[in-house]
Amino acid sequence: MEECIFCKIVSGEVSSMKVYEDEYTLAFMDIAGDVDGHILVIPKEHCKNILDCNYHVLNDIMNTVKKIAEHLVENCRYDGVNILNASDESAGQSVPHFHIHIIPRRNNDGIDAWPVFEGANCEIEEIYRKIKMDEC
Ligand code: 5GP
Ligand code: ZN
Repeated sequence: MEECIFCKIVSGEVSSMKVYEDEYTLAFMDIAGDVDGHILVIPKEHCKNILDCNYHVLNDIMNTVKKIAEHLVENCRYDGVNILNASDESAGQSVPHFHIHIIPRRNNDGIDAWPVFEGANCEIEEIYRKIKMDEC
């Protein structure tokens, strides 16, 4: 994808602070400057998001997410991580190349990385009937 900023990072046309790289995935620092240690993990092959990617890509990217999470906890004195993803513009995706955000966390670090929702509009059973899958 010629115009994709993350494809340009993969090719080296745009520079990045690489945290990890293997044959299929790349992890680098997010430039947002919004929270310490914000990392993005991407597949090297362009796909838009979880709705668009195949299972091999998903497997590769999640393996890398786990490797980095373990590295942060085992070697960098973090206690845990938040793992975030927006798939589709409706969900807040701003860069249309699949990526997982990793936010390293320490006990009592005061970071608010979890949305506070305003409360559901419908009864849980009503939504459940609409979204449950045939297997259940
Ligand atoms: P989204 O909103 O799609 O979930 O997240 C996109 C992320 O990509 C944002 O956190 C944004 O800061 C990051 N980002 C956008 N452009 C660049 C870039 O050129 N380099 C890096 N390292 N991160 C970027
Ligand atoms: Zn791309």
